[in-house]
Amino acid sequence: MKAEIIENVSGKRIAEMSIDRIADQKPVLKFSDEDKTTECPESGHESCLKFALPLLIAKLGGDTISGIGHRVVHGGSKFAQPTLIDAEVEAAIEKLIALAPLHNPANLKGIRIAREIFPALAQVAIFDTSFHQTLPTRAHTYALPKALREKHGIRRFGFHGSSHQYVANMAAKAMNSELKDLRIISCHLGNGASVCAIEYGRSVETSMGLTPLEGLVMGTRGGDIDPGILLHIAREEGMSIDDLDKLLNKESGLKGLSGHSNDMRDIIDKAANGNEDCRLALLVFAHRLRKYIGAYAAVMGGADAIVFTGGIGENSNVVRQRVTQRMEYMGVLTDEDLNNDIRLSEENPFAFFNASNSRVKLLAIKTDEEKAIAAETARIINEGNKVNTVPVIPIAISARHLHLTQESVEMLFGTGYKLSEKAPLSQPGQFAANETVTVVGPKNSIERVRILGPCRELNQLEISRTDEFFIGIDAPVRASGKVENTPGIKILGPNGELTLKEGVICAWRHIHMTPDDADVFGVEEGDIVEVEVKNGARPLTFGNVLIRVSPKFKLEMHIDTDEANAAELSQNAEGALLHTEGTATLLKKNLKH
Ligand code: ADP
Repeated sequence: MKAEIIENVSGKRIAEMSIDRIADQKPVLKFSDEDKTTECPESGHESCLKFALPLLIAKLGGDTISGIGHRVVHGGSKFAQPTLIDAEVEAAIEKLIALAPLHNPANLKGIRIAREIFPALAQVAIFDTSFHQTLPTRAHTYALPKALREKHGIRRFGFHGSSHQYVANMAAKAMNSELKDLRIISCHLGNGASVCAIEYGRSVETSMGLTPLEGLVMGTRGGDIDPGILLHIAREEGMSIDDLDKLLNKESGLKGLSGHSNDMRDIIDKAANGNEDCRLALLVFAHRLRKYIGAYAAVMGGADAIVFTGGIGENSNVVRQRVTQRMEYMGVLTDEDLNNDIRLSEENPFAFFNASNSRVKLLAIKTDEEKAIAAETARIINEGNKVNTVPVIPIAISARHLHLTQESVEMLFGTGYKLSEKAPLSQPGQFAANETVTVVGPKNSIERVRILGPCRELNQLEISRTDEFFIGIDAPVRASGKVENTPGIKILGPNGELTLKEGVICAWRHIHMTPDDADVFGVEEGDIVEVEVKNGARPLTFGNVLIRVSPKFKLEMHIDTDEANAAELSQNAEGALLHTEGTATLLKKNLKH
């Protein structure tokens, strides 16, 4: 089990963990930045992940993550794209367990545990199969009876999709070309191995099928065999379905051929030392892949690049050389020195090894499924956070002002006193009163602070940071009405004074809108958005802007005088809520924390 925290924009890996021997009593957890390993207290995916995830997150030192991407092996015919996980998607992944009994249940556990730990975060499923949903019918159809195919959903799905897609994109970049102009044969050679024909950006053929058993020779899977062999050995050996499953998944491939190891490094070493079985394993491995490359060149009518990736493709010059030799017929000429010198790393993720006069480019590319997953997850989250950027939103500046209860008004202005309207405010029913008061802080006082009417249930003084420094008070940024645990203040009126126990806030910049406006923008009450404020001279992007929705509101963004000054929005010193020439545009919605 692997998990990483990746900063999507820079591609930087912040933290990386892996857990081995999950089924053992004491599974082993390792962080890449630590030499030591840690024992997980209990075996099993669930307890390991619950133990390890908080430790991984702690590596952020208090920073937060924006979403979680899950590699899900089988997405069947349903998922042609990475998908935001909801109850319906989860149920669909569960249904596909029949096609990926080893993988999908574990993937589901990961999703459920991550949601338990981070209930508010977006979770995205990235399917190994989805890149291959573009396979034409002729390529994904097996020549089996239609009724049986339809009943059981039998067709070629293909796997390793994110890796094939990732390296194809990198190949296009390395070649200074666009993916849509290239025909690429991508060979992912790891413990599992598959090859994919990518024609102008779309997967049109791939060697794995309904399950990851078909195609190339792999570590412990044999890939293509005559299906008649299964019938034969089942009969002759009296093997059960489970026996055959084990034979095909665990005992074949390099391991079965060599009788020694499923690890290509061992095979190459032993072959070099004269071990005949290992020599044969290497020959069969390379031959099978050569056959597929020829076939896929035939499918696409040629190729512009052949890419090698995965542990073997990235690291083994021997395998790359065996596979690409004698391919002059299709325009492939290798440069053996280049091939032998390839050392891929995070800093040097690709290298060419074709001769300069080769029509087809040959590349080794370091695949990075985690980065591909992070990038797709970020894309899906950003799409979900998109808001409508029109219409533009008028901005009003909220100068320091005071909301009072009727009781407070009477204490300051006299019994039975009623506020009188000086000017209406843009929010319906609200007005700037003729009445002003003096606010007395520990350091200084401010005179002529405008009262806004009508009276409210709570007393609340809204001032800017600059005002706070001036009067000597440290007030928190709050949404209107949230005055618990805020500082109090002394207020002088013409006929009395009043000491508020609490109620001084620095107003949280916000946008008022009606439910209809909210629909248009694609936001709702309580959402946090980013807003670009434009007024010519100093445009500014404000983060952490609160959306307030009520049928009583009128579309308008409210910022305080400090914020207005920073954006050079003009104001007149007198009023309480002043219209400006400036306008705001919603940029995006941020995830609720
Ligand atoms: P997985 O499919 O499990 O992600 P990898 O992509 O890490 O696996 O590939 C593992 C395979 O890569 C193993 O067979 C390993 O022997 C092989 N490999 C790694 N380094 C080399 C190397 N230098 N030469 C040959 N094979 C290598």
